[in-house]
Amino acid sequence: MNSPEHRTSPHHDWTALLGTENIIFNRDLTSAAETATFATHQSIPFILRPANREQVQECLRIANRLGVPLYPVSSGKNWGYGSRVPVADSCALLDLGRMDRIVDFNEELAYVTVEPGVTQRHLHQFLRERHSKLWMDATGSSPDCSLIGNAMERGFGHTPYSDHFAHVCGFEVVLPSGECIHTGFARFPGARTGPLYRWGVGPSLDGLFTQSNLGIVTRMSIWLMPAPEYVQAFFFRCGEDSALSRVIDALRPLRLDGTLRSAIHVANDYKVLAGIQQFPWQSAEPPLSRGKMEGFRKKLQFGRWNGSGALYGTRAQVAEARRLVRKALAGKVDKLKFLDERTMRMAARFAKPYRRITGWDLARTMQLVKPVFGLMQGVPTEKTLTSAYWRKRTPAPASMDLDRDRCGLLWCAPVLPLDGEEAAQVADLTETLMLAHGFEPFISLTLLTERTLAAIISITYDRDVPGEDRKAMECYRNLMDRLTQRGYHSYRLGIQSMAAMNGGNEYSRLIESLKQMLDPNGVLAPGRYQMRVPHGSAANLVELPQRRRL
Ligand SMILES: Cc1cc2nc3c(=O)[nH]c(=O)nc-3n(C[C@H](O)[C@H](O)[C@H](O)COP(=O)(O)OP(=O)(O)OC[C@H]3O[C@@H](n4cnc5c(N)ncnc54)[C@H](O)[C@@H]3O)c2cc1C
Repeated sequence: MNSPEHRTSPHHDWTALLGTENIIFNRDLTSAAETATFATHQSIPFILRPANREQVQECLRIANRLGVPLYPVSSGKNWGYGSRVPVADSCALLDLGRMDRIVDFNEELAYVTVEPGVTQRHLHQFLRERHSKLWMDATGSSPDCSLIGNAMERGFGHTPYSDHFAHVCGFEVVLPSGECIHTGFARFPGARTGPLYRWGVGPSLDGLFTQSNLGIVTRMSIWLMPAPEYVQAFFFRCGEDSALSRVIDALRPLRLDGTLRSAIHVANDYKVLAGIQQFPWQSAEPPLSRGKMEGFRKKLQFGRWNGSGALYGTRAQVAEARRLVRKALAGKVDKLKFLDERTMRMAARFAKPYRRITGWDLARTMQLVKPVFGLMQGVPTEKTLTSAYWRKRTPAPASMDLDRDRCGLLWCAPVLPLDGEEAAQVADLTETLMLAHGFEPFISLTLLTERTLAAIISITYDRDVPGEDRKAMECYRNLMDRLTQRGYHSYRLGIQSMAAMNGGNEYSRLIESLKQMLDPNGVLAPGRYQMRVPHGSAANLVELPQRRRL
């Protein structure tokens, strides 16, 4: 409840600005916001819910006056990386979810301009209602994730527009001082190409505001993809460990020359099993051994490594791409299947006879494939979230909330050269290390760009089991150390890793100078991707000196 003493100073300015209903002290709500998918200790004294950019500006001015740091989130579902929990202690949460307008849409030039509260579900619905011929790109996370929140972390999805930061521009940014700037050409009043042309003229600033604490993005344009004439998904599997490097090397030329336009995913057997079911508690003890996993592979018919991707274009272009994919993977995979809308419908109708003839359980496969095929066309899904309940003893609820349900989840996301041998080495290191720590190694290798692979590794556990938080964090730290020692750095970080980002080099010092210049009072997301902290060591990330405790 909002108690009367909280309505007096020092919160008075915020209350006057936002109204009592939009400054939240309710302990249930603040402690929910203090909960992530791993152990954290940061406290959140209250939550602010501004309704528009002007209120965000004023919130920052008040924060500067009072010396109270703010931590912005858009939808706050940064699961596995810290959820809504701030990097530093005692930050007020600035929840931007009420700013949920789609402020511009252009079908011909294929873009949309959104506020932070606009979610994947919201945009998808918006496009459908308008019978738009444009696709958005969707991540595998909740449909209720913010488009801006994800782009701020430089997240990715599954269509040819999968690299989100590469498909956004024209940011409206509130600086820590409360001033507001626009990036690219949008900074010129009356500019005709603000949402269309990223670079503007002069130094380009967009990158400064992603994975940083230099500003709050209150508006952003997102480019949308014209729906192609035809899309065909492909799925393959291979039985041997050694197939991985051959497959990656075979796909590289096709990714580089544009035959493969979207992110292709190659998942290990553990990752596939977690997409199908929870931990088999009746027949095994964690961690699920390689031997037991082999049994599941045979029974459920998936491979040691399992790939999925899609081909986009005219029918003729897709036919040619299919020929090239077939040729590239010939002799390297055990099974390669192509599917489109029509074959999916047919499969649903003829699943039983098909199984009798080929032995392949199409009905079950279709259940798994449908949401993936949707993601390949920018349709968000909730289905993928069930994998976070892998070690839970009860099934995933209809409405999934990983923080509330105490799902343990830590992501580690190193980027590798698009090279088979390196992929195999990282996979081997990860599997051996995670099994030794007592966790199933869930790995998917994504051909993220023409030249790189993102290894998306999750440590998935049950936070209700005593000791597991500590064990999982040990495993995570060990894995991150081993990977960074070998030169594989994660494309984004969880709140637990930001302090460990090594400062001391000139790049870090430059960022630090910018932070000092833009945010001398340290009121915006202290510690977020901050490699070096003013006034002392990394320990200060959780206890900044200028902080006023409320
Ligand atoms: C099963 C599962 C699958 C997932 N699949 C994917 C996937 O395919 N791709 C992917 O990218 N991620 C994935 N995720 C991770 C994560 O859930 C998503 O990245 C999600 O989009 C991030 O949360 P959000 O959108 O709610 O952003 P938020 O939590 O709102 O924002 C993320 C961070 O960005 C900063 N921020 C937010 N808004 C602003 C702003 N307006 N201005 C400045 N800074 C801001 C904050 O520091 C915040 O902590 C997955 C997670 C799970 C559990």
